[in-house]
Amino acid sequence: MPYDIHHFINNTFVPSLAGGTFETLNPATNEPLGQVADGQPADIDRAVQAARRAFDEGPWPRLDPETRAKILRRIAALIEKYADDIADREIADSGVPVKQIKGGAIPRAAYNFNYFADMTNRLTGESFPVGDKFLNYSLRRPVGVAGLITPWNTPFMLETWKVAPCLAFGNTCVLKPAEWSPLSADKLAAIIQEAELPPGVFNIVHGFGETAGAPLVAHPGVQVISFTGETTTGQAIMRNGAATLKRFSMELGGKSPTIVFDDADQARALDGAIFQLYSLNGERCTAGSRLLVQDTIYASFVEQVAERVAHIRVGPPADPATEVGPLIHPEHWAKVNSYMDVARAEGATVLVGGGRPAGFPHGNYFSPTLITGVTSQMRVAQEEIFGPVLVVIPFHDEAEAIHIANDVRYGLAGYVWTRDLARAHRVAQAIEAGMVWVNSHNVRDLRTPFGGSKHSGLGREGDHYSFELYTEVKAIHVALGQHPIPRVGLG
Ligand code: NAD
Repeated sequence: MPYDIHHFINNTFVPSLAGGTFETLNPATNEPLGQVADGQPADIDRAVQAARRAFDEGPWPRLDPETRAKILRRIAALIEKYADDIADREIADSGVPVKQIKGGAIPRAAYNFNYFADMTNRLTGESFPVGDKFLNYSLRRPVGVAGLITPWNTPFMLETWKVAPCLAFGNTCVLKPAEWSPLSADKLAAIIQEAELPPGVFNIVHGFGETAGAPLVAHPGVQVISFTGETTTGQAIMRNGAATLKRFSMELGGKSPTIVFDDADQARALDGAIFQLYSLNGERCTAGSRLLVQDTIYASFVEQVAERVAHIRVGPPADPATEVGPLIHPEHWAKVNSYMDVARAEGATVLVGGGRPAGFPHGNYFSPTLITGVTSQMRVAQEEIFGPVLVVIPFHDEAEAIHIANDVRYGLAGYVWTRDLARAHRVAQAIEAGMVWVNSHNVRDLRTPFGGSKHSGLGREGDHYSFELYTEVKAIHVALGQHPIPRVGLG
């Protein structure tokens, strides 16, 4: 049955005020999956006003932490209950293989709510006694209305990663999901309705960046923008939010290095490097999309990588055997494909893959691709391709590995493979990135700060790092006695 997706405002599903809709496509076929309400500035205004009322007059920011936590845990339980429906929508809409959605993204989405439910108890302040004269203290208060703007790769997980802390700390929000993957956010709305969150606390407006995202950023009723997406979009959003002095979190693009030294456990490094890049169809912000291999093992290691990449199972995302599914959209397919010519024109070799795989004449399937003969200055080594395309660069020693690793404008993640403990720490510390993993792929620990440096982002989220975005610190000064007050105006 085709989906009919409406906005969610004040706990009610509503069409666009102007009645417009757009199609969302199945990336495996490019057939329409359904119609989606096309949000315009008037819809954004309606949603922000609902969130504003819920914040200014409703119970949510004033509830005791445990009551808020209970509702968040209810949402987590409902995510688990409806995991199959969420997965069906996400797979159909995003093309990410079922195994990675059911085994990774959906359990993590539920965990996001459970984790931040526990965090409600940690909204504490400090006290500053001043002898018997004053007791001063600080409190963390919710900031207000947050605008949450999300991309299309693992949409459900990323949406819950923003919604859970935002609500846990007492804010209200308007979520603007990516226009290419709106289906699972609609299920989140249904879940939140069933969990009986007070009306207006959580709202969704669907639509495009320019017509729905931009007015949300510019709206004077919104205090916070948490954005995940491309670096250039983040820059436009910051310019747009300047007039109303928005508080921003920016989770942006990446071109992260995986560095393999010749003393590494090569079998594990191989597994890690390949999973890290080709899972989620290569559409992963923290992907190790530049593989840096020490020259002493370059030939043999790259041969093994090529062998594995050539055997990655491409297929329909609903098939449990599929390892790489279709890219999100024909436009994105064309962007990824354009880098094949860019690579060749710059003298690199497309060693494996490099276009549409045999047997997949329809949809946005792209062969797992390996590009060799790459130097750091080439565009394929500098720009985020955001598909199943790995570029390999040799390096001679530690200093050169660090130089190449840092020779990009991005600084999101990094991966180091070596058995030399001291070198592992040295390199991990030298990589310009918000997050580095040593002898590991991207295994998340929600207690650690998530975010990027350089052009990969601003701010950190996760655990108490999310306080900085979603709470306002307020200092209260209480006089306990008769401290001297200078008297003026006595003539
Ligand atoms: P995108 O920037 O095109 O779009 C992201 C969202 O922003 C969408 O909802 C879109 O509608 C909205 N948008 C677009 N223009 C806007 C505007 N002018 N004002 C307000 N909103 C606007 O990104 P994408 O193509 O959907 O996602 C892929 C990108 O996201 C990649 O660069 C990837 O690295 C990045 N990403 C980063 C992280 C991270 O945590 N750092 C995580 C996932 C994805």
